[in-house]
Amino acid sequence: MDASVIVVGGGPAGLMLAGELRLAGVDVIVLERLAKPTGQSRGLGFSARTMEVFDQRGLLPAFGDIEVSTLGHFGGIPVDFAMLDGAHYGVKGIAQSRTEAVLEQWAAELGADLRRGHELLTLTDHSDHVEVRVRSEEGPRTLRAEYLVGCDGGRSTVRKAAGFDFPGAAPTREMFLADLRDVDIAPRPIGETVPGGMVMSAPLEDGVHRIVVCERGRPPQRRTEPPDFSEVAAAWKRLSGQDISDATPVWVSAFGDPARQATEYRRGRVLLAGDAAHVHLPAGGQGMNTSIQDAVNLGWKLATVVKGTGSQALLDTYHDERHPVGRRLLTNVQAQGLLFLSGDEMQPLRDVMAELIGYDVVARHLAGMVSGLEIRYDVDEGDHPLLGRRMPPVELLRGTHTTSPAQLLRAGRGVFLDLADGNGTLTAAHRWSDRVDLIKAAAPLPSAGRLAGAASLLVRPDGHVAWTSPGSASTLPRALERWFGPPS
Ligand SMILES: Cc1cc2nc3c(=O)[nH]c(=O)nc-3n(C[C@H](O)[C@H](O)[C@H](O)COP(=O)(O)OP(=O)(O)OC[C@H]3O[C@@H](n4cnc5c(N)ncnc54)[C@H](O)[C@@H]3O)c2cc1C
Repeated sequence: MDASVIVVGGGPAGLMLAGELRLAGVDVIVLERLAKPTGQSRGLGFSARTMEVFDQRGLLPAFGDIEVSTLGHFGGIPVDFAMLDGAHYGVKGIAQSRTEAVLEQWAAELGADLRRGHELLTLTDHSDHVEVRVRSEEGPRTLRAEYLVGCDGGRSTVRKAAGFDFPGAAPTREMFLADLRDVDIAPRPIGETVPGGMVMSAPLEDGVHRIVVCERGRPPQRRTEPPDFSEVAAAWKRLSGQDISDATPVWVSAFGDPARQATEYRRGRVLLAGDAAHVHLPAGGQGMNTSIQDAVNLGWKLATVVKGTGSQALLDTYHDERHPVGRRLLTNVQAQGLLFLSGDEMQPLRDVMAELIGYDVVARHLAGMVSGLEIRYDVDEGDHPLLGRRMPPVELLRGTHTTSPAQLLRAGRGVFLDLADGNGTLTAAHRWSDRVDLIKAAAPLPSAGRLAGAASLLVRPDGHVAWTSPGSASTLPRALERWFGPPS
């Protein structure tokens, strides 16, 4: 074997996955077609849950000063995300290229073998290993690994070569995005419809403006090259009346509104994560976030299996947990697209939605959905409100020292948190101490409330709660074995 795992694609999903695998001590090769990063940024900022995930791995300082905005939208209708405890609409102004650079450096420091200028051409799943053919400057190569993960984006070669089904809706329209210099464009928030479509503009860093043009009735096109800026400028003029043809384009791109999802996230030894598993209209800034969180769900499970302690059933929980998240993402994105891309005929529904969003319970529901904070996996351990959810970012005390769940998760291991149990559960968990950190801590008052009375909790490496007491102490060994393998 050339590595235990080959990851195809060095975008946000592939780099996050490589870091997670290395954190668990698994050797990984990342094959990336591009010789160097493009510096282009489809996504801007990241969501509340991604911020927590980065905090869990100690990555936030690498982003410098981080500013979050609680004011967001659903389909162009303003929503105050502060409605939901800990939620915000996103980190402001961090270009996707910067997020990728941070992840690349982290994965490299942990020892991931990132091979740029290496394009996967074909693959064969030989039931006990996977073989891939790769094109690189040094000529064609064959590589072998125990598992292969396709993080190679919406047009995934891995997905096609491994025969994954990718049903759903084809794009119905084409839209443009351009980052421009040497032009003065007034900010226009998303959702501001104009006769003939929707235009959006926002200032980025260093005097660059981003514009998005969605012209109704513009059919999707099969492009192999980005559109010419003149096409974008003409569409902008038709919709906004402003002539921007003299601007200097930094980056021009076209995108559509497909809604497709792989029916399985795993076929034998081949798995998919990120856009390779789901493509959709970029509404509400969710694609990169979902991709990163796919990787964080998969990384520790695949590592546990590769290291021989985890079962195939554990690996299958990746599909079981992330496929529903992807399906829900497609639904909310399609709903948002209908709201902000349709014409006047949608106005009554927009008005009703705006009225509904005025109710706290609705705003909270939408904020939870878009921020990724409401995700609840089925961990099958009872009905404690935290089960399956992400561990809330509470303050904990270890003696006189203050800590947090994010700090306790830095090593990417499981955490057994004994807050006040006294039931001997900590002793029971000892047999997994080679894979799970056993922590005695106290939750001061506001934290205790947010933990809904839990006396001890088992937190998975991805930050989701897998077991709580009181209520089900006798089931702790079963939960530990399910997520971390048999006791040592
Ligand atoms: C206009 C637009 C705006 C967006 N805005 C946001 C936003 O604000 N927030 C957000 O969260 N998301 C946003 N997204 C979505 C986000 O950009 C994607 O969801 C995200 O990039 C997916 O990450 P990924 O790693 O799965 O795939 P990608 O980023 O597509 O990375 C795939 C990588 O695989 C490589 N690759 C492909 N084929 C091969 C091969 N055969 N061999 C080797 N390497 C290969 C590619 O070169 C690429 O580096 C936006 C998307 C668009 C189009």
